[in-house]
Amino acid sequence: MKEYDVVVIGAGTGGYVAAIRAAQLGLTVAVVEKQKALGGTCLIWGCIPTKALLEHAHALKVVQQAKEWGVTGAQGPIGIDMAQVHARKDRIVGGLTKGVEFLFRKNKIDWIKGTARLTGNGGVPGTIDVFEGDKQTLRARKEIIVATGSAPRSVPGVTIDRKRIITSDEAIHLPEVPKSIAVLGSGAVGVEFASIFRRFGSDVTIFELLPRLVPVEDEAVSAELEKSFRKNGITSHTGAKVTKAVTTGDAVEIEAHLADGTTKSLRADYLLVATGRGPVTAGLEIERLGLQMEKGYITVDAMYRTSVPGISAIGDVITVRGEQAHPQLAHVSSAEGIVAAERIAGRETRPINYDHVPGCTYCEPEIGSVGLTEREARERGYDVRIGTFPFGVLARAKMAGEIEGFVKIVADKRYDEVLGVHMIGLRSTELVAEATLALRLESTVEELIRTIHAHPTMAEAVGEAAHAAHGAAIHL
Ligand SMILES: Cc1cc2nc3c(=O)[nH]c(=O)nc-3n(C[C@H](O)[C@H](O)[C@H](O)COP(=O)(O)OP(=O)(O)OC[C@H]3O[C@@H](n4cnc5c(N)ncnc54)[C@H](O)[C@@H]3O)c2cc1C
Repeated sequence: MKEYDVVVIGAGTGGYVAAIRAAQLGLTVAVVEKQKALGGTCLIWGCIPTKALLEHAHALKVVQQAKEWGVTGAQGPIGIDMAQVHARKDRIVGGLTKGVEFLFRKNKIDWIKGTARLTGNGGVPGTIDVFEGDKQTLRARKEIIVATGSAPRSVPGVTIDRKRIITSDEAIHLPEVPKSIAVLGSGAVGVEFASIFRRFGSDVTIFELLPRLVPVEDEAVSAELEKSFRKNGITSHTGAKVTKAVTTGDAVEIEAHLADGTTKSLRADYLLVATGRGPVTAGLEIERLGLQMEKGYITVDAMYRTSVPGISAIGDVITVRGEQAHPQLAHVSSAEGIVAAERIAGRETRPINYDHVPGCTYCEPEIGSVGLTEREARERGYDVRIGTFPFGVLARAKMAGEIEGFVKIVADKRYDEVLGVHMIGLRSTELVAEATLALRLESTVEELIRTIHAHPTMAEAVGEAAHAAHGAAIHL
């Protein structure tokens, strides 16, 4: 039996970051991972391959607009070579997963290849059996960290067959550009793929059960995205319930009840089911150990301790006691891994403030947001002040030819505190970093106004939105 201070199950962005942080703090660490590569959902099926595809979509857009940019030599039919797209995307994924292997070697972390099962009866030390691959028993002297992540899930009435009714796992590998694709769900995954396939040339139809696209975002952001999607030829049905999806040959027959009471029938090459992801705990035998669970997720406290001593859990597989919703995001899993590792190593660390988690959606136009939406701020009883500034006024946006979108600041009138910042448009996924720091430092709107924003940048919109929140933007 091999002994370590910490044994992590799962090498996603939660597990591998927890392992590195624990090793940096002097602990001996092993990570059990059943996939052939390290990095989990984010690196292999999620953030990285999807954003690589989006960069291809962007490259295609620039070439399509070659004439406007004065680029010569790009005349003739412009298309996309999916074999080349996948080869480049796979090279990026491969390079990054190898990078995690390098970091493991650098930090003397053992990668145990195989599938883990929790054995023993909880408590410290805990034991894990690896029952496939490198079969063996591992003992964790201090703690086991469960970081087994999530997997796609469907909704009642829609059975994923992974051929025509597919998930994001298949969508990242489609060998050809579909003539048509329907997307079920308009969260980040749904709208990102809608943007990719539309730019590649597919007919795209989105079905969203809730009354608006990207329902977790501020309502103004949803409205702007709907407007932009419409302009770009993406059909969106909100308040629509898909009741039937059947694969017939090389297509899917879809039926949906629309918001206006009518029924819509649609035949598409594929139906991409993007209705969220469920926790992965099968085979771990956590039920036998009596870990407290909620709707399949492992319940943890603010320091990621489960109800069983010696077992922690982080990332997509958890629900945090006292928090309304736990965001399934790579950077959240990593931040949790760092907190858990520091606590296990006896370092002083602090709970995460989930109100300060930035969210990025890389659709076209892209979205960055952090903190409370206007509605949430009002529901929490704040006397709210709003400042909005459109990107279209900015020199930098005009130069880039990307004038859609805005920055919207939600602030509290009483103390002038910035409560949330919501943006849609060029570079929003980068600009949200400033907003995140502002929330972290409990900044006021006044402080954002006094922060000098370089010119010409998209970031000027943040300063201008702050001015707007105090009465008037300079350039409006
Ligand atoms: C299409 C898509 C796009 C996304 N884009 C973004 C984005 O742009 N930004 C962002 O922040 N997030 C994004 N996400 C979400 C992000 O990928 C996840 O939040 C993140 O990967 C969660 O990390 P994790 O470590 O909790 O779990 P995972 O990454 O799911 O890792 C869990 C690992 O555990 C392993 N495992 C499971 N059970 C066992 C077992 N019994 N034994 C051994 N190994 C096991 C799995 O093989 C897996 O490697 C995206 C997700 C998808 C699907």
